[in-house]
Amino acid sequence: MRIVLLGAPGSGKGTQAQRLVERAGIPQISTGDLLRAAVARGTELGRQAREAMDGGRLVEDSLVLGMIRERLGEPDTRRGFIFDGFPRNLAQAHALERLLEALQQPLDAVVQFDVDYRELVRRISGRRSCADCGRVFNMLTSPPPSSESCPRTGAPHRLMQRPDDNEATVAERLRVYDEKTRPLIDFYRARGLLRVIDAAGDVDEVTRRLAQALGAPLRAPRRTRAASPVKTAARKRASVSASRARAGRAVRRKRTALRSSGSKAAAKTARAARGKSPRLGRSGRGRLKGKRR
Ligand code: AMP
Repeated sequence: MRIVLLGAPGSGKGTQAQRLVERAGIPQISTGDLLRAAVARGTELGRQAREAMDGGRLVEDSLVLGMIRERLGEPDTRRGFIFDGFPRNLAQAHALERLLEALQQPLDAVVQFDVDYRELVRRISGRRSCADCGRVFNMLTSPPPSSESCPRTGAPHRLMQRPDDNEATVAERLRVYDEKTRPLIDFYRARGLLRVIDAAGDVDEVTRRLAQALGAPLRAPRRTRAASPVKTAARKRASVSASRARAGRAVRRKRTALRSSGSKAAAKTARAARGKSPRLGRSGRGRLKGKRR
């Protein structure tokens, strides 16, 4: 599966992408995460990207596309990938189309996360991520469970707020989304790839809507593995026809038994009528009565 998750900052793309990684077994490619990692490592790319990121603007296309080309060269992307936060403008969308055409790996779907502006701002203000493992939480909607520890350190998650999640930068990022990224909705709709989901509300509910939009019953994470709806329906059909067959066999057996007990009783009746046998017993009459019914 090759998917793009499209949506404004705070629409929940990152959270749902992480869930898709667990369920579909394909990697998430978040350009925001790749850029933040480059900044943290202090590479040349990070140095060039930093100013735009701090100001809430888009990083230059050539830098982002270079990163994407490199990432798609890695073997874990052969079974598919989830783009989160990429493409971000029409130039990137056209470049991605050409790149995937050359790789003969066209996109399967683009899912747009629909959330209203006030909710986006509320969500961004509650967003925190673990400084060690990078997992994203939301203190308002999906705080880290108290029993959970960071898979990197084994200690509780070290929660940090992203430097660009401050009020002024968020306003600029939302403006940039409207101006540069929103036009991608029509771009992908024209290609027949667009699916829109209501991304407001409960996180699990959004995951369910996303799975439905992708038309794939996604495997639940191993711990809480749920039965596939397709397999469940097939199993139900098989078990209904098996129980019907069992019931049919039982009815046939009963009829045969009744017939043979009926004929024994009839013979008894005839013998009784001819005076060759003692009188008909209650059970014999009962059986004959039963048979007539
Ligand atoms: P995100 O984590 O997706 O919200 O991205 C954080 C910041 O990284 C953005 O505000 C941009 O400055 C930069 N960025 C991430 N993805 C892209 C992209 N595809 N094109 C340009 N800049 C990006």
